[in-house]
Amino acid sequence: MTTSGPETRDREIARQMEHFEQVCRSAGVKLTHQRMEVFREVARSGHHPDAETIHRGVRSRLPTVSLDTVYRALWLLSDLGLITTLGPSRERTRFDANLRRHHHFVCVRCGLTRDFYSDAFDDLKLPHSVRALGRVETTQVEARGVCHECAQADSAKPATAKKKGKR
Ligand SMILES: [Zn+2]
Ligand SMILES: [Zn+2]
Repeated sequence: MTTSGPETRDREIARQMEHFEQVCRSAGVKLTHQRMEVFREVARSGHHPDAETIHRGVRSRLPTVSLDTVYRALWLLSDLGLITTLGPSRERTRFDANLRRHHHFVCVRCGLTRDFYSDAFDDLKLPHSVRALGRVETTQVEARGVCHECAQADSAKPATAKKKGKR
C-alpha cells in the first residue's frame, strides 16, 4: 500500500492554491500574503492542524504574523468555504483544507487525524430519526482508534502499566 508521494502532493497543493485564489477573487477578498500563507500551511500539513500549529508554521516564513491574525484568516477562509473545521473541542478547533469528500481516522491517544476515502461511506443512508434533529448537509464518518505509533508505544511499556484501565 502506498500513500500519495511527494510529487502528487505538490500538485495537489498547487491545485488548492489556485482554487483558493479563484474563490478569494470572486468573493472580492483581498489576496494578502498572510492569508495565502495561512491557507498554504493548512493545505500543506494534511494533519488537520490547530491554530497554534498553523501559527508556528506561518511564522517561519512571516516572522511578524500574530496568532490573532492567523485566527482571523482561518475564520475568513472557513466562511469562504475554503477550509472546514473539525472536532468537538471548542478550545482546540482544527482546520482541514481537504474539500474532497472524505472521512477521518482519529487516534484517541494522540489526536492524530488522517483522511481516508470511501464511496460506500459517501453514499451512507441516514436513519429518518436524524431529520428530527435538523437538515443534514454532509455526512462524515469518524473512525476512532489507536494509531500505529501509539499502539507501538503501548506494547513497549511493561505489562503492569497496561493492566489498569482508566475507565
Ligand atoms: Zn496516536
Ligand atoms: Zn480531513
